Amino acid sequence: MTASPDAATSGRADGRIVVVTGGARGIGRAIVDRFAAEGATVVIGDLTDPGNVGAGLDVAGHREWVPLDVTDEASVLEFAETVQAGHGGVDVLVNNAGIMDTRSIRDETVADWDLAMAVNLRGPFLMAKHLLPLMEGRDDPAIVNIGSIEGLGANALHASYAASKAGVHGLTRALAVDLGPMGVRCNAVAPGWIDTDLNRGYVDKHPNRDQAVAELASLHPVGRIGDPADVAGTVLWLATPDAGFVTGQVVTVDGGRMTRLSLPASLADD
Ligand code: NDP
Repeated sequence: MTASPDAATSGRADGRIVVVTGGARGIGRAIVDRFAAEGATVVIGDLTDPGNVGAGLDVAGHREWVPLDVTDEASVLEFAETVQAGHGGVDVLVNNAGIMDTRSIRDETVADWDLAMAVNLRGPFLMAKHLLPLMEGRDDPAIVNIGSIEGLGANALHASYAASKAGVHGLTRALAVDLGPMGVRCNAVAPGWIDTDLNRGYVDKHPNRDQAVAELASLHPVGRIGDPADVAGTVLWLATPDAGFVTGQVVTVDGGRMTRLSLPASLADD
């Protein structure tokens, strides 16, 4: 069963100020909508104006867009100033913006590598660094980084992506250690295969899309690929007092895909 953004909404983020990078679409947008549905004020930090931030769910909270390029320190500083001026602080930072390069290192240029690192790893570093002053003194402030199962394993042709996501997991642990004494918790969510634009191209290049989705689903003990709302529910939990003693963890949300050990087709039961 897919987590529903309007399932069990009960004001779990009432009054919280939440920043979500890359919140215009995909997983980020589901995180935005879930926090807003739970009563938070959510600031979407994204390159482009998503245009319809007020639309969608009938939510208790509020959503707005502030332009942000997570790779650019000046942009991050300007974003932090805008949020401070508008809201007086930040309770939850979700570092979600990410890109994925799919090619052999024979073809991947230094510029490609640097861009992947800049968005996926420098971005969370810059956001944590410059939003930290806005989080100090807040009640149970939390950082949630979106890592990946590719920080734990790797698909083919994903050198920069897998390396950057392993880096995100390392950054998560380091920030948990460093910021814990200030009361800031830091965790990561490692999603598995989630249906978004990021990986839709993979499926769409298969001659039979339904077959590709069915084959993908069969890799998962729960029998399906993930939905952005599945990730949003775990991010929400990590940002609430229910996870108040949880920090430095990488929580895998992958329908069990990483847990199932593979067998050759001739020996597999299904
Ligand atoms: P999408 O490509 O659907 O969305 C990514 C969002 O990030 C877009 O809104 C994009 O903006 C924004 N973004 C990209 N670069 C920047 C930047 N420099 N500054 C600010 N915003 C930026 O991706 P997903 O929703 O699928 O992925 C979200 C996160 O989840 C990523 O970190 C990804 O690595 C991770 N993840 C995804 C998985 C999946 O299966 N989908 C699995 C595991 C992890 P714009 O539209 O303007 O480019």
